[in-house]
Amino acid sequence: MSLSFNPDTIAPPVGHFIGGELVSAKGAMEMRRPSDGKSYAACPVAGVDLVDRAVESAKAALKASNWGGVRPRERTKALHAWADLMEAEAQTLARIEALSSTRPVGQLVAGDIAVTAEQIRFFAEFADKEGSELVPTDDASLGMIMSEPYGVVGAITPWNFPISMAGWKLGPALAAGNAVVLKPSEMTPFSAIFMAELAVRAGLPAGLINVVLGDGPTTGTALTGHPEIAKVSFTGSTRAGSAIMENVARTGVKPMTLELGGKSPQIVFADADLDKAATAIAGSVTFNAGQACVAGTRLIVEKSVADRLTASILEKMKAVRPGPTWEETTQYSPIISHGQRARVDGIVRAAVSAGGECLIGGGAMEAPGYFYEPTLIANVSQGNPAIVEEIFGPVLTIQTFDSEEEALALSSHPTYGLASGLFTADLSRTIRFARRLEAGTVWVNRYSRSRDHILPTGGYKRSGIGKDLGREVYLANRRTKSVLISL
Ligand code: NAD
Repeated sequence: MSLSFNPDTIAPPVGHFIGGELVSAKGAMEMRRPSDGKSYAACPVAGVDLVDRAVESAKAALKASNWGGVRPRERTKALHAWADLMEAEAQTLARIEALSSTRPVGQLVAGDIAVTAEQIRFFAEFADKEGSELVPTDDASLGMIMSEPYGVVGAITPWNFPISMAGWKLGPALAAGNAVVLKPSEMTPFSAIFMAELAVRAGLPAGLINVVLGDGPTTGTALTGHPEIAKVSFTGSTRAGSAIMENVARTGVKPMTLELGGKSPQIVFADADLDKAATAIAGSVTFNAGQACVAGTRLIVEKSVADRLTASILEKMKAVRPGPTWEETTQYSPIISHGQRARVDGIVRAAVSAGGECLIGGGAMEAPGYFYEPTLIANVSQGNPAIVEEIFGPVLTIQTFDSEEEALALSSHPTYGLASGLFTADLSRTIRFARRLEAGTVWVNRYSRSRDHILPTGGYKRSGIGKDLGREVYLANRRTKSVLISL
């Protein structure tokens, strides 16, 4: 059966999800579909009272279900059931998501949703395998490091991969025995509501996942500053991450994980497989139209092969075809909003004013919705706005080098250190670069995540604090207590 659908037939669940049910609410912020610009819904904004109600519901659910204290395998089983139901309902979930986001329905079913279900199962498996440990002490004592959940975790997610980001937050927090109050992005809030509804249908205690809709300044601030939120888990921009740190510092001290922005380099040496490199590089800036935190937006290539590689990347960038997110075959996404597209365009124009040369693109596409042309900018210095700013669009810059030292110097960014790519056939150079690149991820001869969820992701510098994925995110959702018993 085709996954394509008529967007006018989909009614998103407008409201908040508290205590296991949809709490209907009046929309406050107009929402437009990125694929055609049509207004289709309004996002409600939860204030302090509703956030408080969601936190109370999470606390009550923890108490009633003893979620953090049951046999851990019970949590694993419940999360597996949720992942199974998410896959069974993938089509409905994908349609709700494709309506408001930049994610095409075909990619959602085969990619985002399938991988999210797999990751939830992956996180679930830690529940009965990671725990407290005994430590060496003298004969007259018993020492242990006891591990326990935090309680209620406050999670905030961005709009670029809404289902995946919700899964990254909910999966480990729940597996670790916590309840969650999640605030999805106001641009793409409805898929999280449906995910929470599926959790209840799968048998997770009602109130364990609560979803409050709203913007950052009102709902986000109320959530991160709530005294009963024991830990904050955030993914979004560095600007919002700073605002959250400030709010948490002002309202009380609590741990937080911050997954923030990026401006990642891809370094290509002359000995690399250039066809493979071109495919990976073009793919990384055109996938989701460059709206990915790890997008490899700065190409740094050895001078002797720069022309050849550029020609090959240009060919691949030219081949993209825009299409609405509700068509199954769509590969190239729109930009999330009119405002975001204007921002992308503004930085591209500033880059050209500062001496950059657009080899392709540099403007909005002739299509309904908010599509932007894949853009490649040459002649950029380290101070050019296209190098300095996280553009969050399909824009790639190109710089050249003659030596390893020059490549390393160009790859270092003053603000960001999220991911990096290296293309070379030289093993010793690979190790030298893996050691010296200032980024939380180094991909070599590829530029994308795999389905090895054990590899954590997170940033150096102002790209963040802490990790998502891997064992690390599970452990970050538990706190430890040192217990020393005198025998
Ligand atoms: P954003 O920071 O504008 O918003 C992200 C979320 O934070 C939204 O839910 C928003 O409502 C909320 N928010 C904003 N201000 C807030 C505040 N003061 N207090 C509490 N919450 C607040 O980001 P965006 O535009 O939605 O997403 C794009 C950004 O996310 C990019 O910078 C991208 O690099 C980053 N991102 C990072 C990762 C990662 O793993 N490092 C993954 C995806 C996206």
